[in-house]
Amino acid sequence: MILNFLGCGCAYRPQFGNTSAWLSVDGRLFLFDCGETVFTRLLQTGLLERCRSLTVLVTHCHADHAGSLPTLISYMHDVEQKPVAVYYPGEDVRTLMTCCGIAVDECEFYSGANIVFAPGIRCSAFPVEHHPDLHCYGYHFICGPESLYYSGDARRLPPGVLDAFLNGRIRELYQDATFLEDQGASHGSLDYLSAVIPPSLRRNVYPMHFSGDFSGQLRDRGFGVCMEPLGR
Ligand SMILES: [Zn+2]
Repeated sequence: MILNFLGCGCAYRPQFGNTSAWLSVDGRLFLFDCGETVFTRLLQTGLLERCRSLTVLVTHCHADHAGSLPTLISYMHDVEQKPVAVYYPGEDVRTLMTCCGIAVDECEFYSGANIVFAPGIRCSAFPVEHHPDLHCYGYHFICGPESLYYSGDARRLPPGVLDAFLNGRIRELYQDATFLEDQGASHGSLDYLSAVIPPSLRRNVYPMHFSGDFSGQLRDRGFGVCMEPLGR
């Protein structure tokens, strides 16, 4: 598994930790989403002390995905005194930071649809179906030979992403599976993933953002397990 998870729960299961994941490349820490529980978990890991810089990729502004981001930025600026950057292809996150009193010099913002973070490290944003009043994105992140897709909250995989995974151009998928069965238009389900991912490829697909402990069902169907839910 390329990513390391800090939490795997949906908004109403904070005991699982808000869904968030990270990887480190030469001391540069990349964090996917920063919900309400994430800053506390980051402090517990020591990752912020050990990293050289931090880049946060935000999928959308729901509180379980961006709720502790202002505090994290302030902490990196004031306490760790390390560079921090935020990637989101639009203005929503920058507006949220302004409302929370984050000064423009505390953080660098990336906002294009395709970003090169460093040689060999780049990301493309895909609009995803989640909430009608929010701009929500999944991210295709490429780091050297590694290629992954992180959905954020999303009912479905973008067709281009699913094709790229089925054809071997994306190595790992991390996809919203809040529910076991399809429920409404906001989130994905394990049944949806089971319908579109053949069994032979499921070990590289990691469902996440759970409304319950689905560990047994994930194993029974051959999917990867991003982390065991804590505090069940
Ligand atoms: Zn959401």
